[in-house]
Amino acid sequence: MGITLSEDHQMMVDAVRNFARAELTSRDVEWDHTETSCCTELDQLYDMGLMGLRVPEEFGGLNVPTVCYAHIIRELAYASPSVAVTIAVHSMVCEIVNQFATEEAKREILPRLAEPGNLSAFAISEPNSGSDPASARTRARKIDDGYQLNGTKMWVTNGITGRWFVVLARLNDGDNSNALSMFLMDAQQVGVDRNIIHGKMGIRGSETAEMSLEDVFIPEQNLLGEPGWGLRIALSALDGGRIGIASQAVGIACACIDLMVGYAKERVQFEEPIANFQAIQWMIADSQTEMMASQQLIDQAAWLKDQGRSYTQAASMAKLYAAEAANRIAYRGVQVHGGYGYSNEFRIEQFYRDARITSIYEGTSEIQRVVIARNLLREA
Ligand SMILES: Cc1cc2nc3c(=O)[nH]c(=O)nc-3n(C[C@H](O)[C@H](O)[C@H](O)COP(=O)(O)OP(=O)(O)OC[C@H]3O[C@@H](n4cnc5c(N)ncnc54)[C@H](O)[C@@H]3O)c2cc1C
Repeated sequence: MGITLSEDHQMMVDAVRNFARAELTSRDVEWDHTETSCCTELDQLYDMGLMGLRVPEEFGGLNVPTVCYAHIIRELAYASPSVAVTIAVHSMVCEIVNQFATEEAKREILPRLAEPGNLSAFAISEPNSGSDPASARTRARKIDDGYQLNGTKMWVTNGITGRWFVVLARLNDGDNSNALSMFLMDAQQVGVDRNIIHGKMGIRGSETAEMSLEDVFIPEQNLLGEPGWGLRIALSALDGGRIGIASQAVGIACACIDLMVGYAKERVQFEEPIANFQAIQWMIADSQTEMMASQQLIDQAAWLKDQGRSYTQAASMAKLYAAEAANRIAYRGVQVHGGYGYSNEFRIEQFYRDARITSIYEGTSEIQRVVIARNLLREA
């Protein structure tokens, strides 16, 4: 669909599709029912190189183009939206380290990020700081050989199993956004206290944690970029991250469409398959159109990123549209299933819940509109 991938990249996407549909679907249902983390069951993904999708080849990764990466995340989300976001967040951290870490930190950490035991996380949000990351209160204090972090982070995906955390903190009690800096933290140390957040509506196989930091040590070389670059790094990482979440939304949308088509052909009412009713056909037609439009927006944003061109607005449009479309499509999926769609005996019920998060994290739909409008108004 849309953009043409190279033969090698298309083969990779096909391999991920086959693997995900065969291996992840039933496990995803189980993770959802039992609310257990998928993060401890990623061995096959490491074997396939999927944890190094955005790690340069010289450091042992696959370094696939963003366009290919987006299609891989879609295929994972079709089978497991939880695994898709686990890898999307990890890949975002790989990109941050590659772009902003010192040479020393890159050489030490990047090869490890593609290896088991080195899952990573992105810790920006706090209990009182969400859409407005500039209000973060976590503090960093300069000490002799590095920095010391204190504060609380909220909603950290991969936050329990993860080892390498990108953490936004306010340096030396500075009050304005120029004081925000970004640090690469090894979570395997005293002072890092992590608690799982249970009771999520969806993506219940994805690990989400609250984390408190008490005098946590960051070596000098693990400051990312320059002091004061925290917000700039967070926002540029989120531009790329939004392509991943938009792709997660399209994966969910594709799965919902396949489920509604399959069910509509089998379910008989008034002595004929409900697929014969125009009302059902329209729901299917609208869903397919919106899903394809989402994919085109994603391909465009990913292509711009691969060209090294500005893609902030394109990524926000892709995320806004794909997330809102996935929610509409999942809603229609339940509608086509009637009462059965309201039961967790049917997979569509889970996708309805999973779709909801795509319009919230990595910037709510309202924040995407703020970004898009701000860009347009600035250009005008
Ligand atoms: C399952 C899950 C996983 C997550 N993973 C991570 C993660 O790995 N790392 C991380 O750092 N964070 C993570 N988050 C946090 C997520 O990014 C935030 O929840 C999100 O950015 C919204 O922030 P908030 O929840 O504080 O809502 P708020 O910012 O309090 O927003 C509440 C409402 O106000 C609206 N609003 C706020 N500001 C404006 C505005 N200027 N104009 C219009 N409307 C506005 C919002 O759109 C929303 O509707 C995760 C969250 C969840 C639920």
